[in-house]
Amino acid sequence: MEVIFLGTGASQGVPIIACDCAVCTSADPRNRRTRCSIHVVMGGLHIQVDAAQEFREQCLRYGVRQLDFFVLTHGHADHVAGMDDLRRFCDLRGGSALTVYSTEEGLSRVRVIYPYAIVERPVMRGYPAFRLVEMPPVIELEQGTIRATLLPHGSVNVLGLVFEERGSGAKFVYYTDCKCVPAEALRLAKGAQAVVLDGLRPKEHPTHMNIAKAIETAHQIGAPVTYLTHLTHEIDHGPFEADLPAGIRLAYDGLKLTF
Ligand SMILES: [Zn+2]
Ligand SMILES: [Zn+2]
Ligand SMILES: [Zn+2]
Repeated sequence: MEVIFLGTGASQGVPIIACDCAVCTSADPRNRRTRCSIHVVMGGLHIQVDAAQEFREQCLRYGVRQLDFFVLTHGHADHVAGMDDLRRFCDLRGGSALTVYSTEEGLSRVRVIYPYAIVERPVMRGYPAFRLVEMPPVIELEQGTIRATLLPHGSVNVLGLVFEERGSGAKFVYYTDCKCVPAEALRLAKGAQAVVLDGLRPKEHPTHMNIAKAIETAHQIGAPVTYLTHLTHEIDHGPFEADLPAGIRLAYDGLKLTF
């Protein structure tokens, strides 16, 4: 399995517009965070999770050239706003609609923002076409399994995703945008080689886990390595990561995991 972090920033990205803080003006490329998404390659299948405002740039930068389907974790702007650029992947599929999995909340947001894309085939070449499907608890594929669980995130629930590749047995967990990880999601995450958790910032936040809560959750799951994502400009990558407990790292744009 291969995972590429296309973006690891919170909703404003880093640097923040008109902010002169040490992180926003830092020379460390790991402190430049576009909005949060990942690209997963499981048994040769290319799965895109979320499409941020920078999705097109991220695809060009990190060589994303193919998509088999798309999963939207929830309908917030920093996850849904780049979906128009999925049009290129419909084109590359020979003009067939791209399957989009999400919650009912996520799908209804897609219908409102992209009404022109809710069609069987692109209206004309180069246009997007989405086939909307409510995310089932389990997607069984020849290449592996994707399990979905709901994570609380203020007024919405977010899809937490667990990928298990059939050939290698590799297990990977992606829990972004959540205030906590409920018991069922903790159970599903057990045995993963790598886990990604929403870490946001040191201070508490009403709808996201802060760093302390993310560390506590990482210890509950007990994976060999946990990466924190959806990070704000309050986190200076180098010094901050050096102070984290063993086995807990910060994700950064362009980070690639292979296992
Ligand atoms: Zn700043
Ligand atoms: Zn969100
Ligand atoms: Zn978000």
